[in-house]
Amino acid sequence: MEPIEIKRVDNDKLFIKWLDGLSSTVTLKDLRDNCPCASCQGEQVGFKKFEPVKLEVHNPAKYELKSIEPVGNYAIRIIWGDGHDTGIYSFEHLRFVMEKFAIK
Ligand SMILES: [Zn+2]
Repeated sequence: MEPIEIKRVDNDKLFIKWLDGLSSTVTLKDLRDNCPCASCQGEQVGFKKFEPVKLEVHNPAKYELKSIEPVGNYAIRIIWGDGHDTGIYSFEHLRFVMEKFAIK
């Protein structure tokens, strides 16, 4: 499966329409919080184990969408307002996030 349309809506959400006809919208926050890169995944583990307060620090740029770039035919790279650009979202992961956090 692959996305055929990706666009930002309401400034803080992402809409994706897929080849099979499914479309959904998620908040950029949910998208960023599910960044698949190693440092974000590590951060989540650290969050639970060691520093529950520190990671709650509010950083709005973290959830600002700077740009989205295609990566081959299998993924997109999302670049965030805080400069974070190591998140390669495979279509599979993207679809998982889009379904799990879809705004009804
Ligand atoms: Zn990340």
